[in-house]
Amino acid sequence: MASATLFLLILHLGAIVTPMNPLSSFSEAKKQTLNSHAKLAFTLPENAEKLSSLGLKTIQVVTNVLIKETQNFPEFSNLIFGKIHEKTPFLPPKINQDDTAAILYSSGTSGASKGVMLTHRNLIATLELFVRFEASQYKEIMDHKRNVYLAVMPMFHVYGLALFGVGLISLGTSIVVMTKFDINEVVKVIDKFKVTHFPLVPPILGALTAKARSLGGVFGVSQLCSLKQVSCGAAPLTTKILADFLHTFPTVDFIQGYGMTETTAVGTRGFNAPGKTHKYTSIGLLAPNMEAKVVNCSTGSCMPPGKAGELLLRGPGIMKGYFNNAEATRQTIDENGWLLTGDIVYFDNDGYIYVIDRLKDIIKYKGFQEFGFLSNSHLQIAPADLETILVSHPEIADVAVTGVADDKAGEIPVAFVVKKPGSLLSRNDIVKYVADMVAPHKKVREVVFVNSIPKSVAGKVLRRNLKNLLPSNSSKL
Ligand code: AMP
Repeated sequence: MASATLFLLILHLGAIVTPMNPLSSFSEAKKQTLNSHAKLAFTLPENAEKLSSLGLKTIQVVTNVLIKETQNFPEFSNLIFGKIHEKTPFLPPKINQDDTAAILYSSGTSGASKGVMLTHRNLIATLELFVRFEASQYKEIMDHKRNVYLAVMPMFHVYGLALFGVGLISLGTSIVVMTKFDINEVVKVIDKFKVTHFPLVPPILGALTAKARSLGGVFGVSQLCSLKQVSCGAAPLTTKILADFLHTFPTVDFIQGYGMTETTAVGTRGFNAPGKTHKYTSIGLLAPNMEAKVVNCSTGSCMPPGKAGELLLRGPGIMKGYFNNAEATRQTIDENGWLLTGDIVYFDNDGYIYVIDRLKDIIKYKGFQEFGFLSNSHLQIAPADLETILVSHPEIADVAVTGVADDKAGEIPVAFVVKKPGSLLSRNDIVKYVADMVAPHKKVREVVFVNSIPKSVAGKVLRRNLKNLLPSNSSKL
């Protein structure tokens, strides 16, 4: 939990945190550093050189508590160690709830990655949700029978940061942290620490089910019998993965949650009311303190239950805006404070919400499992970021990137490329060109050569039409 501890410590000092994916390429790290105006980096030793070369002062975090090189920053070490030894009285600076606490990067509904400014109020709103959720759903926490959560979600993504780094750590809940995702290790850890709650993303749900089946099949996995609840979110869940899980773990409570970086992770609370029929395919009921409306995408009029439209959210968890990007903020939060999520949903007569499609451009690729590092999490890829790299290639005339459904990864980024006349560029050349400049999970996985990119009269890429250009056997959307 070093990153969670540091996160809270830095907030306490009145500074702003911008968490970075440790697998970021040099150019991605540079972009985030410049965009966020970061000055000081806490880093694993392996990334220290990269960050120093960007002009950042670095402090290497070696273990959970041991911080090397603080001697270079007397103010900082006084604050930490002086406080611990009560030598230096430390008065926290005055912080207002509307001050920015963290800047996380997300592509939002369109364009390149942008810095999402989350305020102290946003974080408090999320924390409040966890307090209510734990208190209302699990009365036993009051009797000091503590739940044990398994953390495999990375803390640079809002899911891990809000859930573990803000919510559960502040409640004093026991959290077992795995820094490397491996399903065999997951089973051992659940057994050893008697994990009760496992928040995860769809590919991990699939991996957990497959592992449980290989261990003993339906109804019989003793290593996993401590599990009380599995919650899933961050990306669409297929009915097959869900059905297999429910069949294999008939006694484990299952809930789905939905949220965005821009909502401080929380939009709905996956929640199964005791005694009521479970609605597993729903992303749940609206979170406390959150308002929602579903609007017709063309007319903006509100839709009744059962009719799909874009989900708009409003509440104390909604971001302050995009850092230094007033235009993108205006396009995402309307004049009445409604956040346009870019997700197409409907709600039923009981208020349960169902995601059916996405208006916006993001690609959610499974992430980290194949790199044996951190976790298997659905992480955002902004098509615009990959397009910017691709058009910089001297032999590419035009390009568009979109996500195509994939059984294992959720979605994979596919580039549609118009070559310049006479170019002999191959698929592999293009994949390598991008791979050299991005974090491994952002690599382009497929390339389709086309004569032109479908665009509207206004010149906007018609991303949905791109899928019609896929070779017939590769389109799963
Ligand atoms: P991020 O900002 O990376 O958390 O991405 C937010 C987006 O992830 C949402 O706008 C949705 O498109 C998607 N998402 C989050 N949770 C779910 C879910 N339970 N089901 C389907 N899509 C989801």
